[in-house]
Amino acid sequence: MPDFKGEIQSKLPSAGTSIFAVMSKLAVEHNAINLSQGFPDFPISEKLIARVNHYMKKGFNQYAPMPGVKPLRDAIAAKTKATYQVDYDPETEITITAGATQAIFTAISAFVREGDEVIIFEPAYDSYAPAVKSFGGLVKYSTLKLPDFHIDWGEVKHLISNRTRMIIINTPHNPCGSLLSKDDMKQLEKLTNDSDIIVLSDEVYEHLIFDGNIHQSVCRFPELLSRSLVVGSFGKTFHATGWKTGYVLAPARLMVEFRKLHQFTVFASNTPIQYAIADFLQDPDNYQNLHIFYQQKRDFFVNSIRNSRFHIVPSYGTYFQLLDYSTISKETDLKYAKSLVLEHGVASVPLSPFYSFPSDAKLLRFCFAKKEETLSNAAEILCRI
Ligand code: PMP
Ligand code: GLN
Repeated sequence: MPDFKGEIQSKLPSAGTSIFAVMSKLAVEHNAINLSQGFPDFPISEKLIARVNHYMKKGFNQYAPMPGVKPLRDAIAAKTKATYQVDYDPETEITITAGATQAIFTAISAFVREGDEVIIFEPAYDSYAPAVKSFGGLVKYSTLKLPDFHIDWGEVKHLISNRTRMIIINTPHNPCGSLLSKDDMKQLEKLTNDSDIIVLSDEVYEHLIFDGNIHQSVCRFPELLSRSLVVGSFGKTFHATGWKTGYVLAPARLMVEFRKLHQFTVFASNTPIQYAIADFLQDPDNYQNLHIFYQQKRDFFVNSIRNSRFHIVPSYGTYFQLLDYSTISKETDLKYAKSLVLEHGVASVPLSPFYSFPSDAKLLRFCFAKKEETLSNAAEILCRI
């Protein structure tokens, strides 16, 4: 095909292919055990599949209403009320999206203008900064502080200016597995009080939280909630990452603006899946015990590699486990992750792509949303290194 000859000014000149796609491709090419990209390798609920099937057969195959089907918005309102004791109006304050990535991108597109500043904590999920930059926003990074990846609120205070439009938080945190505490949320509340700053709170792992910790959703903090868009994903909650169905909660004035952009990004998301999830959410047993399920997986993986030479960084939430390989190799994490696939047959995700600066951290992220057999095969290899 004759290629385009005109000039292109890339909106994202330094963006390559996402590290998740790179590592998953490498894993497939080398037939490696894939603990890189975050997705479960076990089947999802048969009941949930049957509900999708049911709605497809009944003819629910045309466009959903733009904000999402009402039964699902009602079900999310009820779940949010039961979990956080807060009322979101399904008519005006809940929108169903094509996954959390779209929710995040649309939220940023709705509020970030040329020259606006957005504070992002790094290591950061890979979609935040490119979304901000593609709308002309300026990213102000605050690095999470070792050893436990906590936020330095004093630093955040200095980053805030009269051009700060948004602060993006993520708890439980991908890739670190760390959590924001009640005190963190209070600090954020205090720093944003009386400002026009919008908080975008990525809470896709809200139910994947361990060791008796409580998810400190912005929903628990009335002042914060009034300036926040909260993002959820059924990909995580129902093990169905390929369904790309998520949602946004926000007070009505913010949601009006979100929907203006949402209607021109996807208009609406998958209809039969929305109805099926609405039914599935009626039974809290379908999501309430997820923390027990995933804590068992974390513990199984961690116990299986305890005698390896990797150093285990505690994971308090998400389905990711960081391992430090600094006593094994001095290679960069990108090189080491690649050699782990090529020479040992286990795929992970290096941490440096989650930073804006060249990081020499010797950390790899492993996804433990896998069958015990997968985890034990991977652990056996890691223990031999
Ligand atoms: N945010 C975080 C922190 C994630 O880890 C992910 C996906 N793993 C997303 C957003 C995107 O979720 P979705 O697949 O629903 O787009
Ligand atoms: N969120 C998943 C992860 O962290 C991957 C999502 C994606 O591939 N974009 O691995």
